[in-house]
Amino acid sequence: MAEAKRDYYEVLGVSKTATDEELKKAYRKLAKKYHPDANPDNREEAEQKFKELNEAYEVLSDKQKRAMYDQFGHSGPNGYSNDFSGFSGFEGFSGASGFGGMDFDLNDIFSSFFGGSTRKRNTNGPVRGRDLKIRVEITFEEAAFGVNKEVTVSREEQCDVCKGSGCKPGTSPETCRVCGGSGQVRTTQNTILGSFSSIRTCDNCAGTGKVIATPCSECRGRGTVKKQRKIKVSIPAGIDDGQVISLNGEGEPGLRGGAPGNLYINISVKKHQLFTRKGDSIFCDVHVSFPQAALGAIIDVPTLAAQVEKFDLPEGTQTGSIFTLKGKGIKNINGRGVGDLYFTVIVDVPKRLNSEQREVIKKLAEVSGEDFSTGKRRKFF
Ligand SMILES: [Zn+2]
Ligand SMILES: [Zn+2]
Repeated sequence: MAEAKRDYYEVLGVSKTATDEELKKAYRKLAKKYHPDANPDNREEAEQKFKELNEAYEVLSDKQKRAMYDQFGHSGPNGYSNDFSGFSGFEGFSGASGFGGMDFDLNDIFSSFFGGSTRKRNTNGPVRGRDLKIRVEITFEEAAFGVNKEVTVSREEQCDVCKGSGCKPGTSPETCRVCGGSGQVRTTQNTILGSFSSIRTCDNCAGTGKVIATPCSECRGRGTVKKQRKIKVSIPAGIDDGQVISLNGEGEPGLRGGAPGNLYINISVKKHQLFTRKGDSIFCDVHVSFPQAALGAIIDVPTLAAQVEKFDLPEGTQTGSIFTLKGKGIKNINGRGVGDLYFTVIVDVPKRLNSEQREVIKKLAEVSGEDFSTGKRRKFF
């Protein structure tokens, strides 16, 4: 490159003896500062600083490149410059198009950089099994009183043939040739902002460091097979629509000794013909006749427990009046008592009358002082 380059240590603001940790810290700090998106007013300059920074870090964070740089500086001999062929792309970068027209996302580069090279994931260790979720529909009464159900879950379970190893019985896994058993490979990405090295999981062995040369024929090397498993679930009284029961360890098995996942059962409660529910309270309507409402009566109130409750309806009950049957609602799921039943009295007006009924009601109207010609009440007194 033709222009005079700043010293890489100077760019990062660290000493020549800086540790990897110090380099990383300095890089992160400056990368945030010079990220072009963080400098909308001064984008061009920020872009220049940003790529200079990336270049410096790319070299100094790599032991070999750093040693070369320490020895030869920018004008490194034989092959050194080839390492940075990707940087030639920078020359035309200061154009007015800026980042807007570029076909990549800066955040992707950031995340691949920070996520990839600074955090080493141990992919050979135990992995917890996947959680499973199913939905179970129950009736209103089942929710109120509790129920035992058997649910069928389709889940991965350890293969009986290979006992989960994935290898044909009598064989064992071999060390992955691509990553030499580490489970990780280093890749260098040339981007418009510079070359980024990152360590990623080895594709060949999926990070395990081992490959199965002769897979188990039953599970084709996966170590697990899909099975339909029937599981008994005890659904407690008082459960409500949308609540979730968690069965620990009933999910899919873990890998390499990891714990199994959980099974989550999402409860869906069917609507009831008569009752609605809010918390532990239930609500319904009870229809009564005009004479019952007017004179008072012993009426039947439906309950969830199948049998009706007798209720002494007082004289002169208005339509829409609400009465309570204590403790006839739903048992609290946490053992905090039982809810109440609220019923709304609906006074039915007869739709069809025979002549005798008609006469009696007219008589009632008459003695109540109602005038049928106007529909209004008259005052006699
Ligand atoms: Zn198997
Ligand atoms: Zn590998």
